[in-house]
Amino acid sequence: MASAGGYVYVVHEREFKESGRPVYKVGRSGDIFQRLKSYPNGSHPLLTASVRDQVAAETQLKERCELKMERRLDIGHEYFEGPFQVLHGIFSEVTLAYAEDLEGKDAARRAPAVDVDRLLTKYVNDERTVLVQQRFWKVTDVLDDFNTKHGVSMSLKAFTTRLRSLFKLRVEPMPFGEGELHPAVDFTTLFGATQKQMGDEENLTRFLTGGADETTSRSHRYHVRRVEGAVTVLSRAKEAYRDYMKSKHSRGSRDWPQDETTLKRVGLEVKTVNVCKSCGKLARGGYNACCASYGKDNRTKRVCVLHLDLTVEMIP
Ligand SMILES: [Zn+2]
Repeated sequence: MASAGGYVYVVHEREFKESGRPVYKVGRSGDIFQRLKSYPNGSHPLLTASVRDQVAAETQLKERCELKMERRLDIGHEYFEGPFQVLHGIFSEVTLAYAEDLEGKDAARRAPAVDVDRLLTKYVNDERTVLVQQRFWKVTDVLDDFNTKHGVSMSLKAFTTRLRSLFKLRVEPMPFGEGELHPAVDFTTLFGATQKQMGDEENLTRFLTGGADETTSRSHRYHVRRVEGAVTVLSRAKEAYRDYMKSKHSRGSRDWPQDETTLKRVGLEVKTVNVCKSCGKLARGGYNACCASYGKDNRTKRVCVLHLDLTVEMIP
């Protein structure tokens, strides 16, 4: 064969068409007309596509079908059983990724090159919380999400290769569902986060963003809001959090996490600032003074959570 180009296709063979069974044959050929004629009369060609590399496209098709459909090795290596819709989806994605460059090199030059490594790094960092929450992920699930979010069609093989080399992540077969093995990846190893740490982050996020009905203890109701420029002394915030956790979440850690990731995610930061002794706000003089009693001698340096407004109400 002079070139790697050719066709991939899906046929519903007569035997399965007549018995109404969802068993489909996936194949490739350099001469699609000849090849389709070789099937028994009454067979139904369902999908065909011209691709620039028929061997690679067929391999990719089978890899992905194997993950989402049942491979019928009892019939032959190229038969898959399962919903046609699933097969159609896989076929469309793969053949689009391997579509021939009919407009020539100029079109390729006009189209901006996609830096998948950069996209993938951004994706993994952006989705950190989600990826770590569930310890093992099916690689195909993450790949589908990545492709959708970035409008790309990265192949399964390229994706796992990049995960391995960019992040040193292991990709290994894991049992999912009814003992089925799927390639899975463990993102907790990348971020060094454990389930417990993720739980702690979630608890703090709930405290900081949950609203007054959520953030109560047995004796207090905490009104926690983000207000630009507000300050809450860190030790006071810690004390409130400890009280809240004691009543609400007997299992989680009651300690304010050392790591500031959670705070940053909700737009807060820990900073040493001057606090006005009279009004308790960020000490400020001049035209925008914090209060009438502002003075250089009437302020004190404190470690605070910046932009956090915390008021406490006693529950009778
Ligand atoms: Zn003041």
